[in-house]
Amino acid sequence: MHYIDVILPIPLPKLFTYSVTEAEANFLKSGIRVSVPFGKSKIYTALVFSIHTNKPMVYEAKDIHQILDDEPVVTQMQIKHWQWISEYYMCTLGDVMRAALPNAFILESETVISRNTSNIINDEDLKDNEFLIYEALNHQSSLKIQDIISILDKKNVLPVIKRLLEKDIVIVEEEIYEKYKPKLVRYVKLSTNYSTETKLQELLDDLSRAPKQRQVVMTLFSISAQSKKPIKVSELTEKSNTSAAIIKSLIDKDVLEEYYIQTDRIQYSGEDNNPVKTLNKPQLKAYQEIQESFERHQITLLHGVTSSGKTEIYVKLIEEALAEGKQVLYLVPEIALTTQLVSRLQEYFGEKVAVFHSKYSSQERVEVWKHVLDNSSKARIVLGARSSVLLPFHNLGLVIVDEEHESSYKQFDPAPRYHARDAAIVLAHLFQCKTLLGSATPSLESYYNTKQNKYGLVELTTRFNEVLMPDIELVDIKDKQKRKRMTGHFSDRLIEEMTETLKDGHQIILFQNRRGFSPIVECLTCGHAPQCPNCDVSLTYHQYKDQLRCHYCGYYSAMIKACEACGSLDLDNKGFGTEQVEEEVKELFPDAKVARMDLDTTRGKYGYEKIITALEQQEVDVLVGTQMLTKGLDFRHVKLVGIMNADNMLNFPDFRAHERSFQLMLQVSGRAGRTEERGKVLIQTYNPYHNILQQVSTNAYQDMYVEQMEERFNFKYPPVYRLIKITLKHRDYNKVNQGADWYAKSLRLVFGTDVLGPEFPPVSRIRNQYIKHILVKIPPKQSVSKTKEAIIRINNSFFNIKDFRALRVILNVDNY
Ligand code: ADP
Ligand code: ZN
Ligand code: ZN
Repeated sequence: MHYIDVILPIPLPKLFTYSVTEAEANFLKSGIRVSVPFGKSKIYTALVFSIHTNKPMVYEAKDIHQILDDEPVVTQMQIKHWQWISEYYMCTLGDVMRAALPNAFILESETVISRNTSNIINDEDLKDNEFLIYEALNHQSSLKIQDIISILDKKNVLPVIKRLLEKDIVIVEEEIYEKYKPKLVRYVKLSTNYSTETKLQELLDDLSRAPKQRQVVMTLFSISAQSKKPIKVSELTEKSNTSAAIIKSLIDKDVLEEYYIQTDRIQYSGEDNNPVKTLNKPQLKAYQEIQESFERHQITLLHGVTSSGKTEIYVKLIEEALAEGKQVLYLVPEIALTTQLVSRLQEYFGEKVAVFHSKYSSQERVEVWKHVLDNSSKARIVLGARSSVLLPFHNLGLVIVDEEHESSYKQFDPAPRYHARDAAIVLAHLFQCKTLLGSATPSLESYYNTKQNKYGLVELTTRFNEVLMPDIELVDIKDKQKRKRMTGHFSDRLIEEMTETLKDGHQIILFQNRRGFSPIVECLTCGHAPQCPNCDVSLTYHQYKDQLRCHYCGYYSAMIKACEACGSLDLDNKGFGTEQVEEEVKELFPDAKVARMDLDTTRGKYGYEKIITALEQQEVDVLVGTQMLTKGLDFRHVKLVGIMNADNMLNFPDFRAHERSFQLMLQVSGRAGRTEERGKVLIQTYNPYHNILQQVSTNAYQDMYVEQMEERFNFKYPPVYRLIKITLKHRDYNKVNQGADWYAKSLRLVFGTDVLGPEFPPVSRIRNQYIKHILVKIPPKQSVSKTKEAIIRINNSFFNIKDFRALRVILNVDNY
């Protein structure tokens, strides 16, 4: 008898065994998909893990339905990598499989398919079964796999659906994501026919009978005399006070030429797009040091100040890996960052760049998956966010992790709760290739690893073009308040600098850690603040919609007119968010164009791209934003950065708060003065003598590192100790308490004082679920795998207790 062990895309702790025929056993390989029955009536797409002849002991192995692939769609290397992820992050292989494979690869009973309306189909090309499904979809917008089973009256339907998917006739329904399409902006220039002066004079004479058209040409002339920027059609229409029709008639006459520029390109850099950049001296030195370091270390950290030209160094290294015929993985922490980078990389590597992230549709992800699997020339360089470490590389030659300090590399929910930087390092290790980590503000983890000589370290301390690091000034707002020098949340210094910057035609970024108008509404009479009914948290006021909203569950209600508790009309908006900053800027600078970048404004279609583009094109003078602003964006004309309030970052209750604040503030400062002129940064704070602020203002990474590491040693936190966070959740308050107490007590029997909690987090109820945390600290010398084994044993005993079975337990390794 022959059997296969498969990974099912569900969180089963073990592999599941099915029986196959001898012919099937001979055909199958690890990494091929099969459709299998599971439970009473479910169908899943499973992945063959191994083929063997060992009958399962405790259950009767069922037959598989059908083999879905001719060749593996998942590589052996990936399976090894998945195994590492599942062991290290304490989750199942099924969890990893689900995170890794595009939805269209894992058809199952619950999958819903619909017609791909963007494709015209000739029904004669369809086989009978395919036609039946196609027909059904013309009457019904979507079908479940179960429906298809009854339509076709057979169980083995996945192969038919797979064929329909491959023919682009159907699509797997999921959240509809829009692929990012670069926005095209229409520009005009004078046709080359009129480039000589005599020709131009002739033209103007010709146009004397068409004064409006003449006016347009004259205006075009005067605009281009003032600046070398390309001229937008919209600008020309406005400045020459004319209509689109007149411009069109000039285009039709070949007087004007219209052209489009992809607006996600960084423009007006003063020079033309120059494909190959030669590294300057410091870059070249860093580049050589990286290569030397790679001879001794598998992993090297490039610590280069903001705008030092790290990206150009990556490009050099990529070029080399490509020359050797290898694939490159280039990780960035945020999808938003890919926008700017894609075009930058495409300038050098053209089609070889593939982008991969979770906002892509399943179809698009399948496409990239296949290119990577086939080592196609279309995906030699994969630029992507977290999940791209799970792609089927088989010839990986270099891994780059940019902004390696970013906490968004760590997945919170659902499992696998992996850290993409660390998973990428392991992946590189499997391929015996090098990893380059890059950051202007390295994580303590990575820097500590360089000190331990686990990683190499290369430093780049000057900005490209010798632009000076921004001048950072701390503004004491307590003092300003005392002396009545504050207007709303703006100090006189900030207003002065903003006025100056706007006058010079430069741009401003204002950073405020919170989105929304104001975190909470408080009654000045009784102190009551409206609460979310589902979560243990105050609602925040959003002025734009005059609503109160919960940032945890999305609950909202209309803004209250009077206190719900005492009826008083005296309500105060305590604290402030991005929306209020935006409002105040509009009042202070009525002529400035203000935009806001936070979760609320970037949610929609191309949300990010629109704002980034607007800033690049100088359609925005002042951009107000949250964290999102910090992530390595490269803007040309930003001269001033204002940090509205440093204290709410510093006071955040988390052992990483100081490290994070340092990183955030330096990163956001790094957006100032990236070309030619030195940038200015103002940090408003109640506590200008705070060490972190002093370190930020002098760019003293080393001092920050030494001081923070001391705290981590003293208080036994990462990177000295490792952390595993155990979270228990349930609707019933008592159940959570009892379960957490039992769990913590059992852990203490093994780990003693290295167990903290159980404790309610600051927000202890979300979506009606009570939450309690337990923290296990792993001392440097203690075996991590033994620790995990012990936790798993305790976890198993926990779920053997009937009362606790309904609780949800989440294990989070290296919790961030
Ligand atoms: P970082 O990634 O360190 O923040 P970037 O790589 O974005 O810095 O470089 C900052 C700016 O300097 C970019 O606009 C980039 O195009 C430019 N730049 C960097 N190196 C060079 C070079 N060798 N030649 C020309 N321009 C460069
Ligand atoms: Zn009240
Ligand atoms: Zn809520």
